[in-house]
Amino acid sequence: MDILDDAKKAEMEDRDRALANHFARTIEPAQDIENGIVFCIRCGREVERERLEVKPNAARCVECQTIHEQQERRNGHRTGL
Ligand SMILES: [Zn+2]
Repeated sequence: MDILDDAKKAEMEDRDRALANHFARTIEPAQDIENGIVFCIRCGREVERERLEVKPNAARCVECQTIHEQQERRNGHRTGL
């Protein structure tokens, strides 16, 4: 019984983690689009076409996204998430 409960608990924790990761990855601010070109909302440069193929809703260029993710991680640690 204890083993089953533990397994269930671990499964739920895994799912919560997966969901948290999922949302952290997919939530993007609105894109700045002009004439079909997506401009990075942070630095204003054109978002790489290769990046948009991988992530059509990307609102930041690779460089700014990397910086943003590093900041998010730091914030997450601070708030204990
Ligand atoms: Zn940028």
